[in-house]
Amino acid sequence: MTRVMFRNAMIWDGTGADAFPADLLVDNGRIVTIARTPGQLSGEGTTTVECRGMTLMPGLVEGHAHISFGGAIKDSDLGLIPPEEHLLLTMRNAKTLLDHGFTSAYSAATSKLRLDIVIRNEINAGRLPGPRMRAGSPEITVTGGLGDERQQHMYHESFGMIADGVEEITKAVRLCCREGADNIKINISGDDLSPAAHGGLTVMSEAEVMTAVSVARDFGKKINCHARAAGSVKRAVKCGVDVIYHCESADEEALDALESAKDRIFVGPAIGIIYGTLYEGEPFGFTHEMAVKFGMQRILDDSRKVYTELRKRGVRALIGGDYGFAQTPQGTNARDLKHFVDLLGYSPSEALQCGTRLGGQVMGLGDELGMVKEGFIADLLLVNGDPLKDLDMMVHEKNLIVIMKDGELYKDQSASVASQRQAA
Ligand SMILES: [Zn+2]
Repeated sequence: MTRVMFRNAMIWDGTGADAFPADLLVDNGRIVTIARTPGQLSGEGTTTVECRGMTLMPGLVEGHAHISFGGAIKDSDLGLIPPEEHLLLTMRNAKTLLDHGFTSAYSAATSKLRLDIVIRNEINAGRLPGPRMRAGSPEITVTGGLGDERQQHMYHESFGMIADGVEEITKAVRLCCREGADNIKINISGDDLSPAAHGGLTVMSEAEVMTAVSVARDFGKKINCHARAAGSVKRAVKCGVDVIYHCESADEEALDALESAKDRIFVGPAIGIIYGTLYEGEPFGFTHEMAVKFGMQRILDDSRKVYTELRKRGVRALIGGDYGFAQTPQGTNARDLKHFVDLLGYSPSEALQCGTRLGGQVMGLGDELGMVKEGFIADLLLVNGDPLKDLDMMVHEKNLIVIMKDGELYKDQSASVASQRQAA
């Protein structure tokens, strides 16, 4: 383990406080000292990173990761990828996320049962670059739900794992637990692009949701859900789901339910895919008119209302916009930060906290991950600029001068910044 000193940084610590100048020492994977008076720390025996007033901040946490998704136009495209290619794709995506400053990823779902799991294991063993991961299960869905692409006369694979009734749900969740998933995913509502069940329908029964949650709990796992319809949001809260994605159709009763559980749950608007389909889908066959017809503008408008309300009520929201589809390529995940500001009304500081401090909490490591604090895990980014003034800069790899994960320097271009500044 290396000792690393960051000298002359502007630290944005993830609490929401203003950035402050300091030196920071990392040892044995942890942030050990933050010295607000520069020059207090000795650089002896350390690798020193000259920060030159650049912003040092927590590593980003992708709160709705699909690291096994890549380039899909239709959901069923993911089902067409053979397992061997799919594993390689997932491996490349994991590196892409880390290259773009995501030092952690909370999986919203995988598209084949063991993809997230094996990549997480390889990353943990130090054999592959990638974020620290909570591996997801496939999307457990009922017949006719989101992720069931079958036709009566013909089988089609997608990202779903189809299970109906208490017995099959029990078995599906147990299977995912046996194979090593950290997060179980269930699709409670339909989806606007899904052939049989649109987003306004709540298609997984209360008994099925209750069963999934209870089995996940038995195995000590977290549970996420896809929930667009108001009824599905209420069912998720009532049954004890941990992370409730989408929620844009939440009515007053659903908002009250989410607020009542705010110390326990997280929500995630997954807004990137909605924006991407509306405005950047044309090359992939989604004209703006089609996207509007499929409800994307309504979802965007509803999301703004609902997330404004949830923010006021103190419900914790996560960044992560279903990156991994054609219109939301992996590596552009940090666009969600600016989307939170432009589309949902968050302040830049609030949006960044959704991508750092709250991310640490959803990873189950709230007291040691997601902030720049003494004793915390040293997952750090040194960025060339002020993200609070320009969140768009977080999307571009070239602005991430240092990426540190677990106290190890994964990327360090601080020396070339020094020589560029000297030349200028
Ligand atoms: Zn998703």
